[in-house]
Amino acid sequence: MATTPDISVGARAKYEPVIGLEVHVQLLTASKIFCSCSTRFGDPPNTNVCPVCLGLPGALPVLNKKAVEFATLAAMALNCRINETSIFARKNYFYPDLPKGYQISQYDKPLAEFGFIEIKTNGTTKKIGITRLHLEEDAGKSLHEGFPDAAEKTAIDLNRSGVPLIEIVSEPDIASPDEAYEYLTRLKEIILYTGVSDCNMEEGSLRCDANVSVRPRGQKEFGTKTEVKNVNSFRFIREALIYEIERQVEVVESGGKITQETRLYNADEGKTYGMRSKEQAHDYRYFPEPDLLPLVVDEKWQAEIRKTLPELPEARRKRMVSDYSITEQDAHVLTLTRALADQFEAAARAAKNPKRVANLVQTELMGRLKAKSLEIEQSPISMTGVAMSADLVEAGAISGKMLKDLYDLSFERGQDFPQVYEEEGRPQQSSDAGVLDRLIDEVIAANPKQVEQYRAGKKTVAGFFVGQVMRASKGQANPQLVNELLAKKLGS
Ligand SMILES: [Zn+2]
Repeated sequence: MATTPDISVGARAKYEPVIGLEVHVQLLTASKIFCSCSTRFGDPPNTNVCPVCLGLPGALPVLNKKAVEFATLAAMALNCRINETSIFARKNYFYPDLPKGYQISQYDKPLAEFGFIEIKTNGTTKKIGITRLHLEEDAGKSLHEGFPDAAEKTAIDLNRSGVPLIEIVSEPDIASPDEAYEYLTRLKEIILYTGVSDCNMEEGSLRCDANVSVRPRGQKEFGTKTEVKNVNSFRFIREALIYEIERQVEVVESGGKITQETRLYNADEGKTYGMRSKEQAHDYRYFPEPDLLPLVVDEKWQAEIRKTLPELPEARRKRMVSDYSITEQDAHVLTLTRALADQFEAAARAAKNPKRVANLVQTELMGRLKAKSLEIEQSPISMTGVAMSADLVEAGAISGKMLKDLYDLSFERGQDFPQVYEEEGRPQQSSDAGVLDRLIDEVIAANPKQVEQYRAGKKTVAGFFVGQVMRASKGQANPQLVNELLAKKLGS
């Protein structure tokens, strides 16, 4: 948890935070944005490099068409207006892992603008504006560990140099750390649905910087903002913002001034630290990239890209609720990833009762996956298996208890449900009244004391008898039938 400076609740309530987020997302192209080097993660340092991404003199960038299509698709999914013509610009700054001395980005004419994401906050829906979405190249990476003389030296890996990114800049519409968390969660979900990025935060495919300031409630002008950088999980961003807001309120309350600066979040301590004063845009001396033509994504191309836009999570949830008579909560869980939603829908369409499929996925399947720390893609039980098991329960062929046992076996053996069901000899819950009669008679004969209690009016003992009969049948008796038969025999 973030540790927060000690300020009174009253002082905090006088202020409201203003938050804007800048998110960098790496696009899933096979090659880099301006050369044909591989973007593969984890290759030995400096093996995926060429004159272009090393920034050697005279090397010319050639724009990757796929990167443009992915960026445009993401922009469409985020409700942005696509600018038919956008301009690449040089953002000049010195950094050891930036061999050209500038980064090719977009500045005053970005690829897309005026988008939004809808988030849920306190039960209502709120639109968070997206100022712009632009294309740029990534820089290399400075390494401070993992090689022999790391204590004295810093090494540079330029494999990442020139990897395509989109930067998504939000409007300062975000009013709390919780809203920031929700915005990022929705953003990531949408991007994942489009398939343009894996959004893997550990590998740096999704990075977030947060701009935050505070102002007295009711004041129109923004306070001085700080930028919190290098936070590697959404949870930490929320914590960093909580800390930073409290810190700023404390500074302002005690008569101090906020310095516009970049701050780093230390997750172990739950605190942010000033790193350097924040550059202003004019410090970068942006100018149009002379080696690249204006980027033109005309209407025809836009229409082609729009055809590849999938149904997005929010729309899908709404449709699933009405298509399968499931709850909003069901739909929420079942659309966590596009793969899960696809699989669920395939199973729901195949099964007799979609609601039962939804319940099985959420309770029996997800519960077991969670216990084993597995993702849905790693589930031994496929959605075909879930559909089949749902139908067996629906038809009364197996009991809920038998289903649980079969699922356990699936997870133990790493086999899908149909296979386990087959290997276990297609077990059926017993609805053979003759067989059950015999079992019940045995159980009654073996427990005279409980029979006496039952007949004396203690009807709850019935549960004990059902349990005994179920055990005697090795879980295969139809519980409903057992109940009926028992009541008859004991009641007389
Ligand atoms: Zn290259």
